[in-house]
Amino acid sequence: MKTTVIGAGVIGLACAYELSELGHEVTVVDSGTAGAAASAGNVGWITPFLSLPRAAPGAVRDALKSFTSAEGPARMRPHVELGFASWVAQFLLSSSKKRSSRRTAALQEFSRQAHQHVDSLLERGVEFEHHKDGLAVVFKDAANLAHYEETAARIRAAGYDGPVTVHRGSDITAFDPAIRGDVAGVMHLETERHVRPESLTQGLAKALVNNGGSLIESEAVLRIEPQKRHGVWTVVTAGGREIPSDNLVVAAGYATRALLKPLGVTVPLEAAKGTSLTARGEGVAPSHPLKLYENMATCSPFDDAVRISGTFDLGRRDFRLDRKRLDMVVRQALSYLDSWHPTETEMEWVGHRPTTVDDTPVIGPVERRPGLYLATGHGTLGVSLGPATGTLAAREIAGQGEQAALTPFRLARFGSRTVRSINL
Ligand SMILES: Cc1cc2nc3c(=O)[nH]c(=O)nc-3n(C[C@H](O)[C@H](O)[C@H](O)COP(=O)(O)OP(=O)(O)OC[C@H]3O[C@@H](n4cnc5c(N)ncnc54)[C@H](O)[C@@H]3O)c2cc1C
Repeated sequence: MKTTVIGAGVIGLACAYELSELGHEVTVVDSGTAGAAASAGNVGWITPFLSLPRAAPGAVRDALKSFTSAEGPARMRPHVELGFASWVAQFLLSSSKKRSSRRTAALQEFSRQAHQHVDSLLERGVEFEHHKDGLAVVFKDAANLAHYEETAARIRAAGYDGPVTVHRGSDITAFDPAIRGDVAGVMHLETERHVRPESLTQGLAKALVNNGGSLIESEAVLRIEPQKRHGVWTVVTAGGREIPSDNLVVAAGYATRALLKPLGVTVPLEAAKGTSLTARGEGVAPSHPLKLYENMATCSPFDDAVRISGTFDLGRRDFRLDRKRLDMVVRQALSYLDSWHPTETEMEWVGHRPTTVDDTPVIGPVERRPGLYLATGHGTLGVSLGPATGTLAAREIAGQGEQAALTPFRLARFGSRTVRSINL
């Protein structure tokens, strides 16, 4: 069975590797370098606890607060495409209590498998940097901690069953001496994990090639042509290749939308730009990944560096590093730390979270387009859910039956107009 995967981010590579494990002849095509887009400079959390949609009650209030503050973590850059206004309108509709609770339950159910699929990769010899220190949410303001304890109770009610401990006062320094002793409190999600995301994509790419798969880099897919001579789909690349495929997995991040439009398929995706600094430094480095609550900045310690990331700039599709925004994120993150500060920059980065209107992924076969499978829209959770997505999607593509955890994530949930009847 010849299968082509478009996009070599964490999602495309996880699908490709798992398909190669099931005996498919897999080719992955990427317009850039494998793993170098959204899957590179993020903080690498594997976090069932935080598997929540941003489309939720209070999203509009939080967004407006952020948009009107010079130091707010979120921004919106409207563009002239008709699709953008419709994306925002659908996001608002998805933020109702009822819809958001349904999406949260589905994400919690899916993410419960996250760690098991990461372990399965490690057991099969896929190599990547992996940490089991949990994840700590740090609060400067006691009222925010109290409010978040209520959020934690709701996440528990939605199915999360990991241990959670709250540290206050002198406990905080004992827990992680990198955190300032005068913060209001720290909530430790004990069983969460993190990886160095670049090492995960490199590990998956290497394991794919070891299984006989092919990886074509720096060659954009220009178009997808249906039902040509060799198979169901032909993938046409900028390098002049025509790749015949029995199955086609489209995992091209937010670019999936443009790729599928000519096939009459509308995936309601938008880019949400984020930024990060990876650096070595001086002082006491954090021993846990940190979510710095008031500023929505994040921080992960890796083997030889610390990464600080943040911002959620909706509609920004450019790759320009906004120096002011990155400096703001770093300054905000350091205000939670006792002594650590960066002295030697390893990488400054921007990346785009592929974000759907209900902020949950789109995974599954496309109705009325046999052989075409979608795996994208993981938003803030692509690393968390990448290994699970790869395994379950590969089983469905290989004909092993519908995977129940994926059922809530089909494209059809956005309505019948997502797949138009056109002459292909
Ligand atoms: C600041 C920040 C922090 C984050 N932290 C976390 C975290 O801690 N945990 C977590 O789970 N997630 C996190 N995320 C989200 C995570 O990074 C994404 O969800 C994930 O990387 C998306 O993976 P992907 O494979 O869908 O997309 P990408 O990694 O963007 O891969 C898509 C690929 O498709 C390719 N492509 C596009 N168009 C074409 C074409 N025409 N032809 C060929 N190839 C094409 C691109 O070159 C790219 O390589 C974070 C994101 C940001 C921005």
